[in-house]
Amino acid sequence: MGSESDMQPLGPGSHGAAVADVQAALRSLGLLEPGSDGVYDRATELAVRHFQQVRGLSVDGRVGEETYRALSEARWSLGDRLLHHDPVRPARGDDVTNLQERLLELGYDAGRADGIFGRETETGLQAFQRDYGLTADGTCGPATLRALRQLGRKVTGGRPQLLRQSASFVESGPHLIGRRIVVDPGHGGADTGFAAGETTEADLVLDLASRIEGRLAAAGATVYLTRGRHQDPTPAERTAFANDARADLFISLHVDAQDSPHARGVASYYYGTGSGTSSTVGERFADLARREVVARTGMLDLGGHPKTWDLLRMTRMPAVRLDVGYLSHPVDRLLLLDARLRGTVASAVLAAVQRLFLPADADPPTGTFVLPQRA
Ligand SMILES: [Zn+2]
Repeated sequence: MGSESDMQPLGPGSHGAAVADVQAALRSLGLLEPGSDGVYDRATELAVRHFQQVRGLSVDGRVGEETYRALSEARWSLGDRLLHHDPVRPARGDDVTNLQERLLELGYDAGRADGIFGRETETGLQAFQRDYGLTADGTCGPATLRALRQLGRKVTGGRPQLLRQSASFVESGPHLIGRRIVVDPGHGGADTGFAAGETTEADLVLDLASRIEGRLAAAGATVYLTRGRHQDPTPAERTAFANDARADLFISLHVDAQDSPHARGVASYYYGTGSGTSSTVGERFADLARREVVARTGMLDLGGHPKTWDLLRMTRMPAVRLDVGYLSHPVDRLLLLDARLRGTVASAVLAAVQRLFLPADADPPTGTFVLPQRA
């Protein structure tokens, strides 16, 4: 840590090997195009600002200790290296955060998901390894990774080890096994949607979609995203993708903006004409998802609305579009730029999906949902 605490902040005008190093990290994260190596130019500053916003750091476009550390940590993804507890030089990185989050979602106490592999992470990992019939050595290597991934995405039920797991997994897992869910981040590629500074709607909803994907997968669902960072499928392509995947549920994500600085809050949309014909399950999920988000974030509840948009009409499964907050509103924007808040929104969506697929007698009726009449 010595060299880090001595480092001079890098910013516009800086040049040299340290700048090239920062640029390489930004490129590996897809935030910076190839260009002027070793010179801290405007593009580098914008990429740093973008990174700082997305990570919830103070946004100044300069690379001081905190940003430097966050950049180094962001380079690691799960599977890049062996992870174990080293009390002298604890492993830090996004791969550790990812491991901690997966363990926590599976009901193991791995400590706070802080990206530092400490004693609690080791204990939680060993408990998982024991339950899953692996060598309980507290090292996250290939076999453990394989087990974590299989458990996340492909469990089909009946493994006795799983039945011994903690109450939180029993509550969160089994009823999503076998469910196929398509998450659709709006916009993408050249279509960036709305923007706040260098942060775009397209990037925010993709980040949100990945967080939702991780949580749903950890709870046993099979999850597909309609796009990556550089694609912008048409509504027809998005709905065809969901239909081909034979999804049980389609969740589209957007954030809003308006000229009026007062507009704020969370709205949801489901298929319906407003005069009778509507998707009952879609309406229920639109309601659950919006209310879970509102309850957990304190954002304003703008209600659920029937729409006949192609995205909702051409999908052959319950489809809902969730508009999470206004980038044009100062408070909503602050919330949306906070990575922890986006994690909270993702947990809210997970809770809504769980409630949707719970057996009817296990979810206490909220007073408005009526089972459809049999024809
Ligand atoms: Zn949008």
